[in-house]
Amino acid sequence: SISKFLGDIEFSDVEFSYDNEKKILKNIDFSASAGEMIALVGPTGSGKTTIINLLMRFYDNDSGEILIDGKNSRDYKLRDLRKRIGIVLQDPYLFSGTVMENIRYGRLDATDEEIIQAAKTASAHGFIKHLPAQYHTMITAGGSNISQGQKQLLSIARAILADADILILDEATSNIDTRTEVEIQKGLRNLTKGKTSFVIAHRLRTIERADQILVIKDGELIEQGNHADL
Ligand code: ATP
Repeated sequence: SISKFLGDIEFSDVEFSYDNEKKILKNIDFSASAGEMIALVGPTGSGKTTIINLLMRFYDNDSGEILIDGKNSRDYKLRDLRKRIGIVLQDPYLFSGTVMENIRYGRLDATDEEIIQAAKTASAHGFIKHLPAQYHTMITAGGSNISQGQKQLLSIARAILADADILILDEATSNIDTRTEVEIQKGLRNLTKGKTSFVIAHRLRTIERADQILVIKDGELIEQGNHADL
């Protein structure tokens, strides 16, 4: 069993089909060094989420290799791999419970103090403080009583508490007010500091900040570089 990933990731000639017929990823080749932020961009249906699905081993690639710290991802225990890779979704799973319980999700051993610290680092503490019962405010299932941006802040707090080594971020597509957006960017910077991260990017600011941009189109990596290169 592994304690931590450094976060070097390599996709070597990776191909994949969901149905053994239509190739969804073709010849995907790239490497990310530990600590880099990689932005995945491309039209809807191009294969960005599929790349993440393979990295998380929700599916196994048909050919090629995915290496994490130089070792084939299939040679890690699935449980270890999933634990060491954190995901921040634009619509995270929120259950009916308090803000605190929702952040604690997946880290049942965390103390109240640890949760508040994680929320502060995530830049979520500000909005939580303004809720009717702060950390004890009830969230309805699906989070229908908080905004999309606030959901993402809670998801960042969860990920900070989970302390994974590699991060996957699905940036929100919906409009988020400027103030919340600033907090999200702050929280994401704290979350990803020193860690390899993959961002399904929709914000120009994120793309500008990325160390590498991978442009995916029809399952192929058509361009690769940083914002200045492309
Ligand atoms: P979006 O920006 O809309 O999320 P994406 O770039 O992430 O798009 P993918 O979700 O990776 O694209 O989808 C790539 C292709 O694979 C699409 O044609 C999609 O219909 C197909 N696809 C995705 N998931 C599945 C699945 N579970 N079974 C079959 N086909 C799938």
